[in-house]
Amino acid sequence: MDLRTRTSLFCGALALAIAVSILLRGRRRRAHLYFAAFAADIGLWYVTQWAYHFVRSEVWVRFTAVLAVLLPQFAVHLFEVLVPQRDKRSTLLRVAGVLMVPMMVLVLSPEHKHGLVRGAVMLYVFGLISAGLWSLALRGERSRSRATQQRVRFLVVVGALAAVFTLADFLWFVGAPLPPVGGVLSIVFLFILAESMIRERLVDLYDILGRLLVSTALAFTLAGIFYVFVVLVGGFSTMYLNAILAAIVILVLFDPLRDKVEQYIHLAFFSERVDLDRAIAKARQQLAHVLETREMMQVALSAIEASRRATAAALYLRDPTGPDFELGQAFGPTPPPRIDSATARPLLDRLGSKASVPLELIRHGVIERRRGGQTLALEADERVLAAAEVLGPYKNGVCLAVRGESEAVVGVLLVVDDRVSDAFSSEDVALLEALCVQMSVVIENSQQYRRMQERDRLAALGQMAAGLAHEVKNPLGAIKGAAQLLAEPEEGTVTDPHSKEFLGIILEEVDRLDRVVGSVLDYARPSKGNPGAVDVNAVVRRTLQVLSSAQHSDHDVTVELGDGLPLVRADAEQLRQVLMNLVQNALQATSGKGGGVSVSTRCRPGGPGKNECIEIAVRDHGTGITPQVLKSLFVPFFTTKEKGTGLGLAISQRLVEEWGGRIEVVSQPGAGSTFSVVLPAGIELTTPLPGATGLATAPGTPGVEPA
Ligand code: ADP
Repeated sequence: MDLRTRTSLFCGALALAIAVSILLRGRRRRAHLYFAAFAADIGLWYVTQWAYHFVRSEVWVRFTAVLAVLLPQFAVHLFEVLVPQRDKRSTLLRVAGVLMVPMMVLVLSPEHKHGLVRGAVMLYVFGLISAGLWSLALRGERSRSRATQQRVRFLVVVGALAAVFTLADFLWFVGAPLPPVGGVLSIVFLFILAESMIRERLVDLYDILGRLLVSTALAFTLAGIFYVFVVLVGGFSTMYLNAILAAIVILVLFDPLRDKVEQYIHLAFFSERVDLDRAIAKARQQLAHVLETREMMQVALSAIEASRRATAAALYLRDPTGPDFELGQAFGPTPPPRIDSATARPLLDRLGSKASVPLELIRHGVIERRRGGQTLALEADERVLAAAEVLGPYKNGVCLAVRGESEAVVGVLLVVDDRVSDAFSSEDVALLEALCVQMSVVIENSQQYRRMQERDRLAALGQMAAGLAHEVKNPLGAIKGAAQLLAEPEEGTVTDPHSKEFLGIILEEVDRLDRVVGSVLDYARPSKGNPGAVDVNAVVRRTLQVLSSAQHSDHDVTVELGDGLPLVRADAEQLRQVLMNLVQNALQATSGKGGGVSVSTRCRPGGPGKNECIEIAVRDHGTGITPQVLKSLFVPFFTTKEKGTGLGLAISQRLVEEWGGRIEVVSQPGAGSTFSVVLPAGIELTTPLPGATGLATAPGTPGVEPA
């Protein structure tokens, strides 16, 4: 059996297997049936060629001729249903139908072996298939879906190659010694067709096909080298030597050849991806030297814009004081200025666990799966899509997460190409994800840099404050002493009421100045606390006791303490200072408005991946806080009060963060605010601490009695 006959059997069997496999896929649509007929026709044609080698019967000849006449009919119908024409009946289909009748008559006539008849059949077969591929290519280019465009480009190129090489196979009949590659290419074409039909909605289809194309091109190139060495150069006697030579040449050429083939195929089919790849690689290089988030946004968005792969992109960064995301930079249609975390919750949750959420793909999936009834996954996807509605013109784009420390989502990148559907393949998305990873690094570095700057600033402030305290505190003490002496005159002397009033003002202001200097010192000095096990309920009771015995005795503060709360790790005295500050702020916010203040403690159960926490909430029904003030709440020296220092919350936050906790704020302007100190619960006590049931008294800090 010669090589050609063996190849025929091999190709025939494979083509039939591909035909059967597509029929076994369950969903049998018109395209699947045409494809199965087309593949079976090719398969039977090759098998008949093989059979003819054994039984040289006239029946085979007639049968192959009939198969040849039917082949372009199946092909043009199949190409037509793959990318259907809109509101137009195809002329090609009509022409093919009309031509089939005389062709059938010719091949069934007694003159079927005549050279002219054979020539006419060849012309009819290859002419119609070429016209079918051409019209498919035109429809593909006109399609709005980028995936369809890519798919059709592949099909047409591989189909044309298969047709040309199959035509070249016929040169064998006139004695040209070409290897039978047409058959192999036809099988590759059938495989690509089958894959593109099975994975109709998958945008990464052409990634699979791209790899297949690279392998096929490489296989043919390497086989060519082998063929030249073994068949053309070497005779049978030197076959072994030539095979080794060919193998060495292949081994040497393999890597550079693969790179080149890959490069050409990428340039031919993925030129847009290459552009995106280059733009993102350049941006990532630049980002390695960026520390400012503003510059980071500029670099990232310019790269996406320069790649010309997106018509719009927007980058949101998390508001440092709340859970929402604020628009940083964008190009293209105006995006919403803010992503409200409550409305977009399902989408943000999905981003929490996935690097990217391709919204358009999810939409396709939902439409597809709706036909199969409601499932849990479908409902979750529907919620994500509903949440994505807030993104306005970006609701069909790709949504990507930028993560900060502890993997929390700190930024959201939206990328859209509204010129086409299925705009981004999985590899495009992977490139964008890599960009987001680089942005995460920038954000982390910038936070660290800011912390270092803050530390340096504080160190400088600390030195200045220490000097200031020395310079100011002593004279203040002297002024206060002198004023007190004047305010309490010796017996028998009378102080006039005016002087008494002014002395009162002096004493009050001296006290205030003293407090300010003390606060500056507190904020600037590294914390002197010594954390231990603390019962928060005891701290709350003691704080309120101190408060009621001081100036605010007339205020109404209600308390609601949770039972059996675990201990937390903190400095009791400093925690009292934090609470005192929060309660005083709350009282000031309610003064003149009424409504009272409540302090409550409770245990917050830990969610998945989160530990149990203790929450101390200070709630008021006072003035509330506007979003603008909310942003600067914890900034040192920020105050809206005439006599405020703006250091209370800054100091409180620093202390709470030192104990591994945080301060959460929820506020509604006009309705009131809730400040919650959240501390991790359940500390491990290796040695019983004194006062673990009440307050731990840390060495070096003034002891506080449990209330
Ligand atoms: P100060 O009280 O000296 O101004 P803080 O750091 O304690 O400094 O508070 C900063 C600002 O935060 C206040 O000036 C006020 O505008 C705002 N603020 C704090 N707590 C509340 C509250 N409970 N209600 C309304 N505004 C508040």
